[in-house]
Amino acid sequence: MRTAGRMVAEVLETLREKVRPGVTTLELDCLAEECCHRWNARPAFKGYGGFPFTICASPNDRVVHGFANKDPLSDGDIVSIDFGLIFDGYYGDSAVTIPVGQIDSETDHLLDVTRDSLIAGIEAAQVDAHLTDISNAVQSLAESEGFSIVREFVGHGIGRQLHEEPQIPNYGSPGRGPKLKQGMTFAIEPMVNVGSPKVKVLEDGWTAVTVDGKRSAHFEHTIAITHNGPEVMTRL
Ligand code: MG
Ligand code: MG
Repeated sequence: MRTAGRMVAEVLETLREKVRPGVTTLELDCLAEECCHRWNARPAFKGYGGFPFTICASPNDRVVHGFANKDPLSDGDIVSIDFGLIFDGYYGDSAVTIPVGQIDSETDHLLDVTRDSLIAGIEAAQVDAHLTDISNAVQSLAESEGFSIVREFVGHGIGRQLHEEPQIPNYGSPGRGPKLKQGMTFAIEPMVNVGSPKVKVLEDGWTAVTVDGKRSAHFEHTIAITHNGPEVMTRL
């Protein structure tokens, strides 16, 4: 999983370097797929439940599971890119929200807070903590900054499958769910909205958007629980 996670991180860093006004998410999708082929890894999302792309590309009010397309990104946009792969039987899964050119200060704050809420969730993932300590840490941080947490999509166990038990909501009371043990591996992935937490899915059956059209950010890491604290496997 460390190897798979490192590959995921390398791909997302490669995509981040390409993001600028004028680039299309379809170009980013092709690049991610090329990286997988080069490393004998297989994209995790393409074909998953019929999902048609290697990355999920979700600009601005898109929350998650957006389709790559030929629309050029514009200065001031943000784009959430979620990417996973399988290598040697194990999955890695990670997401980042990337600014396109110069973004406004509220959007910049949204990105900082979403990233910080992921970090807070990761720090709560300690041996003998409870699963929902992660959920509560994520929610507390995001809401303390006046943003809202998406309820419909959650983090998850990960390993030999992309999505394993348990589900990890990004909200809720602490102290519930299973106790965390050394060797458990999770994908923690807060989705944070500027406005309403409510989302709807578009007619393509996949793309989730905010109901109020305001922006949403998404950060995700694959981690392992260890006696030395959480180990982030999808960070360079
Ligand atoms: Mg993901
Ligand atoms: Mg995930």
